[in-house]
Amino acid sequence: MAPTHVLRCFTITCIGEKIVYLIFFHVSFVMFVWSYWKTIFTKPANPSKEFCLAKAEKERYEKEERPESQQEILWRAASSLPLYTRTGAGAIRYCDRCQVIKPDRCHHCSACDMCVLKMDHHCPWVNNCVGFSNYKYFILFLAYSLVYCLFIAATVLQYFIKFWTLCRRKSAENCPKNELHSQAKFHVLFLFFVAAMFCISILSLFTYHLWLVGKNRSTIEAFRAPVFRTGSDKNGFSLGFRKNVAQVFGDQKKYWPLPLFTSQGDGLTFPIRLVSADPEQAAVTLHPEPSKSVAEVPTSPLNESHNHLLSNDQHANHTGGHLANDTLKSAGSDSITISLESDS
Ligand SMILES: [Zn+2]
Ligand SMILES: [Zn+2]
Repeated sequence: MAPTHVLRCFTITCIGEKIVYLIFFHVSFVMFVWSYWKTIFTKPANPSKEFCLAKAEKERYEKEERPESQQEILWRAASSLPLYTRTGAGAIRYCDRCQVIKPDRCHHCSACDMCVLKMDHHCPWVNNCVGFSNYKYFILFLAYSLVYCLFIAATVLQYFIKFWTLCRRKSAENCPKNELHSQAKFHVLFLFFVAAMFCISILSLFTYHLWLVGKNRSTIEAFRAPVFRTGSDKNGFSLGFRKNVAQVFGDQKKYWPLPLFTSQGDGLTFPIRLVSADPEQAAVTLHPEPSKSVAEVPTSPLNESHNHLLSNDQHANHTGGHLANDTLKSAGSDSITISLESDS
């Protein structure tokens, strides 16, 4: 039963305020659901076929018992691949479970039982891996859920205060009757505290991930710095604040607030800060124009179907696809610019 006198006492009378609240609520709610949906249902991107060993090599690798000989096979297979990172011992990173050479920033997720490109973490809140394919959606999900909770906490706050002050004064005129008063008080209390608690927890997670975006690190890399041929470097993938942000959100600011795929690159290769530190691999993978994205992914976020990482038949598309094109292009380039930018 609706407690009418409670509603009368604690409702918004101004029409303008109602309209503003309703619009703001629904916009933030729709954006929240949209980005949450995209985070949950975007399939994690996996390494392409080029990173799998050829059948004969795989058989040899499996038959081989000595780790040194296995590494030899991997080194040979990886010679044509754009790899900068190594294991802590300086070996090629290989996933025995998926039987694939791990691209840079790729990690095996035990929950998903697959290798995930630019894996950030496995998120139980979305029951999905957060990585290259959905990192932008995850950040937006945090942002909109924060806005949503802030809105609720801010709009409930005045009623939260009103209840306590009215209760203290025991004003019979303005205060709801006892039993209904306690019911409504419980609802207001519950709503305010839940919204405030989510605000605090989401805010801390959101600011942490914004910091990670600014530094161009994944959560895994923040805990364990990636190891390059020259040693571990926590800022190895950082290209400066603006480029780091663009790598996740894209070049066009108008698409930043929308949960559409605008991240740069293909998730397999990433520009590194100290190119000169790894001249061998630079000769294989470096692009003539470092300011451009790593691969020819669509600049328009609306063309998701063009992005092979988000399509179902990604493995098939990779045969002679981006990677081979990139490798050929960069191998043919004799004017490689080595640039070193300070990390802001
Ligand atoms: Zn794996
Ligand atoms: Zn996972």
